[in-house]
Amino acid sequence: MSGGSDLVAGRDESRVFDYVIVGAGSAGGVLAARLGEDRDVRVAVIEAGPPDSESVIHTPLAFRQLWDSRFDWGLWGEPEPGLGGRRDYLPRGRVLGGSSSLNTMIYIRGNRVDYDEWALMGLMGWGYEDVLPYFRRAEDNERGESYYHGVGGPLTVSDGRSMHPLVGACIDAAVDAGITPTDDHNGPTQEGTSWFQFTQRNGRRCSTAVAYLHPAAACGNVVVLTDALATRVLFEDERAVGVELLRNNSLEPVRAEREVIVCAGAYHSPHLLLLSGIGPADELQALAIEPRIDLPVGHNLHDHPFAGLVWLTDQESLRRAATRRTSPCSSTRGVDRLPPALPREARSSGECHKVCVRRERMEPHAFNTREDLISASLF
Ligand SMILES: Cc1cc2nc3c(=O)[nH]c(=O)nc-3n(C[C@H](O)[C@H](O)[C@H](O)COP(=O)(O)OP(=O)(O)OC[C@H]3O[C@@H](n4cnc5c(N)ncnc54)[C@H](O)[C@@H]3O)c2cc1C
Repeated sequence: MSGGSDLVAGRDESRVFDYVIVGAGSAGGVLAARLGEDRDVRVAVIEAGPPDSESVIHTPLAFRQLWDSRFDWGLWGEPEPGLGGRRDYLPRGRVLGGSSSLNTMIYIRGNRVDYDEWALMGLMGWGYEDVLPYFRRAEDNERGESYYHGVGGPLTVSDGRSMHPLVGACIDAAVDAGITPTDDHNGPTQEGTSWFQFTQRNGRRCSTAVAYLHPAAACGNVVVLTDALATRVLFEDERAVGVELLRNNSLEPVRAEREVIVCAGAYHSPHLLLLSGIGPADELQALAIEPRIDLPVGHNLHDHPFAGLVWLTDQESLRRAATRRTSPCSSTRGVDRLPPALPREARSSGECHKVCVRRERMEPHAFNTREDLISASLF
């Protein structure tokens, strides 16, 4: 395998950048765009997956079709003692935009308490009031500007367009059960029941590739290499100077004059570091990887569970309407032909309430799958 010095010996200027970013996902896309705002800086973004050109990626209702597809790494966890020994499916984006190209687009920031705890632990600049200006700067929220929200940023944040009555019914039920209603999960209090906002623009997914990376790449100083798998970080002594990548069946080095930035996601960033000799020395030696830096990489992973609730309902979900074979809406393109959505104003008006009341008379004879219900509820 080639070493870092090969980068200097056979110096090919087309492979030399100021910054090399591994992963064109949420973090990588934003970093590439922000670094590239200085037009004198050359940035390379290395992405293992393909471009995000297929329309299915950009059609919110079709998100479930992306999981376990060629745009997904299709990872599975090990048997989990806490899950009765079951293995869990772990979708992760493998495409421009990374997981922001296949996620469910819900716009909810981290909890204030988490940021403030990080600041208390000594991470200066990571308290909630420190990071809030950056959230505002990122946002173009269709509800307008406020203390908590911004306008004019690259990331479009919108209310859902379907305003499906099932969601109204669920929210009413939650309030009846004593859960506080809220107007904004990113406002003063995060907890409560409410309609989500989404990272969507004009009814289409606003991934970080759409919001940040494509506009940045159009400026010329940000180069995006797709179908390029980073296989290890290259070093000169203790300094990371580039990345070795596998592309078109051959290994090639890319050099970073300033920094190598690993943004390959919660699973693949540690993976790449381990392959590069950064990790627990004993574990690396057992795998015949020469340890370079002995660090607990890959430990302390935090994830959140996703638990779906399944109801029986006589209400046809949007997803079923869009995908049932007999329907004129038999592909995701049919989404355009669905009945008009409830306007946002209807949320608090009698119109929405009337629909919710009608739902009380539902007969549980038609089965909707979990995906149907979630799709219907969200989009
Ligand atoms: C199914 C699902 C639903 C979600 N729903 C929501 C939601 O509704 N709202 C929300 O806020 N968050 C949601 N999330 C979480 C959110 O999408 C992620 O937290 C976020 O996208 C992670 O960003 P990242 O940059 O760390 O990684 P990613 O966006 O996953 O980017 C990592 C990128 O690195 C690439 N890569 C990995 N290894 C290599 C390598 N060796 N060489 C080259 N490239 C590599 C990957 O292909 C990928 O493109 C969801 C996530 C998933 C998976």
